[in-house]
Amino acid sequence: MDIILLGPPGAGKGTQSARLVDHHQMRQLSTGDMLRAAVAAQTPVGLEAKAVMDRGELVSDEIVSALIDAELTAMGAGVGAIFDGYPRTEAQAVALDEILRNHGRELDHVVELAVDEDALVDRITGRFTCAKCGEGYHERHKQPEVAGVCDKCGSSEFKHRPDDNEETVRKRMQEYRAKTAPILPYYEARDIVTRVDGMASIDEVAQQIDAILS
Ligand code: ADP
Ligand code: ADP
Ligand code: ZN
Repeated sequence: MDIILLGPPGAGKGTQSARLVDHHQMRQLSTGDMLRAAVAAQTPVGLEAKAVMDRGELVSDEIVSALIDAELTAMGAGVGAIFDGYPRTEAQAVALDEILRNHGRELDHVVELAVDEDALVDRITGRFTCAKCGEGYHERHKQPEVAGVCDKCGSSEFKHRPDDNEETVRKRMQEYRAKTAPILPYYEARDIVTRVDGMASIDEVAQQIDAILS
């Protein structure tokens, strides 16, 4: 089963992907994570992408589609893919169809995480992750069970993304409205889109997604 989680920054795509990976043996393909890894490793792609990401703009379609193609090649056929943060433009949606075809795969569901824009700035500015294992947290909505200690790996080092500030978030929301939301009709025409209430609690959103996948 291959699915897309579609929603604006802070909608909960990463949070729900992590859960699906744990419970359904699927694999998360996050172009944001791939790009951050490339930035950290200072690869040519990372060097090109960094300034664009810091401004909250979109990296080129060619770069992200090449990253996805390479991951699918490495992944093999037996495991389901969760596309998180990709596709983000119509050109990427078209590219993904071709990439999937070349890998003998097909999209089963597009899950749209619908959220109030007002909540997104709160979600993003309160977001932090474990520096060691990447587990996601929130200052108000999802604190570690023991303060300062990662639930998953026990590490006590956490980090904030440099682009998770209010100014960049507003730019990222604009990019979502202008370029990403318009790809929904592309999938609606195929009748594979299901809308989920992303304002519900993390567990309730997870239940809604499970109902779609079962
Ligand atoms: P995305 O990957 O779509 O940008 P994340 O999954 O990283 O979003 O979620 C953004 C922040 O909001 C994180 O700090 C996460 O813990 C928190 N969060 C995610 N889902 C919910 C929810 N349903 N209710 C409240 N907070 C949430
Ligand atoms: P969020 O979790 O807030 O939705 P991501 O981690 O998916 O953010 O993306 C962070 C940044 O990486 C984006 O603002 C953009 O600059 C870049 N990026 C990630 N995925 C894509 C993509 N599919 N196309 C273009 N740029 C991307
Ligand atoms: Zn951890």
